[in-house]
Amino acid sequence: MMGQHGGNQDRLFYSFNLDTHVPADHLLRGIDRFLDLADLCQHLAPFYSHTGRPSIDPELMVRMLLLGYCFGIRSERRLCEEVHLNLAYRWFCRLGLEDAVPDHSTFSKNRHGRFRDSDAFRQLFETVVERCITEGLVGGEGFAIDASIIRADANRRRGVPSTETVEWPAPEQRSRAVREYLAALDEAEPIGATPKYLSMTDPAARWTAAPGCPAFYAYSTNYLVDVKLGVIVDVEATAAHRTEETEATKTMIERVEKRHDLKPQRLIGDTAYGTGPMLEWMVEDKDIEPHVPVWEKFRRTDGTFTVSDFKWDEQANEYRCPRGEPLRSDWRKFKNPRTHITHADTIVYRSTQLACGSCPLKPRCCPNTPARDIARSLYEKSRNVARKVATTADYKQSRKDRKKVEVLFAHLKRILKLDRLRLRGRRGARDEFLLAATAQNLRRMAKRWMQMTMIEPIGAT
Ligand code: SF4
Repeated sequence: MMGQHGGNQDRLFYSFNLDTHVPADHLLRGIDRFLDLADLCQHLAPFYSHTGRPSIDPELMVRMLLLGYCFGIRSERRLCEEVHLNLAYRWFCRLGLEDAVPDHSTFSKNRHGRFRDSDAFRQLFETVVERCITEGLVGGEGFAIDASIIRADANRRRGVPSTETVEWPAPEQRSRAVREYLAALDEAEPIGATPKYLSMTDPAARWTAAPGCPAFYAYSTNYLVDVKLGVIVDVEATAAHRTEETEATKTMIERVEKRHDLKPQRLIGDTAYGTGPMLEWMVEDKDIEPHVPVWEKFRRTDGTFTVSDFKWDEQANEYRCPRGEPLRSDWRKFKNPRTHITHADTIVYRSTQLACGSCPLKPRCCPNTPARDIARSLYEKSRNVARKVATTADYKQSRKDRKKVEVLFAHLKRILKLDRLRLRGRRGARDEFLLAATAQNLRRMAKRWMQMTMIEPIGAT
């Protein structure tokens, strides 16, 4: 017999428990298990007044935000609708069936106010990292570093050439992003060369040209990842510029050491982190093994002798070429001794025309110049340490481990849909990157817990 649904929705009393309607294998159950907001609420308390109309509960705000970042819901309006309609989301936000969900505009205002002033999202991120450490997900032996470019919320046509004098709106008409940018300019000049264009909507975003596509305004999210299970131990927002990204590495390594008492034995990165000063900092200042390819500015590709064919004599402060001739930086004695250091932090060592002119090896050494020269970096000792590390089996493993950061960036953009920012300004980017990294760590903990208890999570991608 065909059954018939009654369609009776006008019952007056229901006995309904939300908890029983959320499946045991729902990803949110795992996330909820590892989310502890007690410290965060304490941290936020001084930012709330004791009088006036009650605000949205900060715990509800954070839970809703995390939901959005965990499930790739980028629109605040849609997030509020989803929490209203989805039983599991209501359960996670500690809302009853009849509790009101905040209006999206109130939600947005709260997000920009106290949360930003109190640095709440950093506090939240660090609490979650601490929990990852307690749960044994962080090894602390090897960290990998990388940066990924994320589009800013700035129209590429609403910019001005940075060589022109910019006419900013009157102070009372300036947006939050412009105010923050001008305040930061007063404190410190931006690092690196001036970009070609300056955005009028988000001036802190950097005009960036990625290969194969038109230039756009962007920020970089910098991840420091523990390679044991791919937990993000720190995250930093910078302009999309290599110098800023490498500087962020130092900030993050030192912050993790201070906050979580973790210092890696090896740091894994790509060639961008293989500059002389960066390697020197790793080797000499921090005693960290650099698992990073050395950045060679002048790599010879024409088959002539490379630097490794020349022998360095530390005591004599000279190179010896394959013919045994010396290459020196100070053939002439000056009255006032010179350092011979170039703008590129190198010292140039030269052979003599006399020696090279009659040398049978000249076509393989310096076919186009009268004599051979070698620019030796001031950081050559540290660069040699990195070169030696690159010949070990551990280094091969590190190359594989580095992929863990790339996987996290792919997940961030494809699954969590953070390929374009919604918030403007450096602080907006920082808030978004912190929340996304927190969501990724929570998901990792939840999934691992579910795998260990043999539950295949629902709602996970
Ligand atoms: S060309 Fe000059 S530097 Fe090169 S091997 Fe001959 S003598 Fe040495």
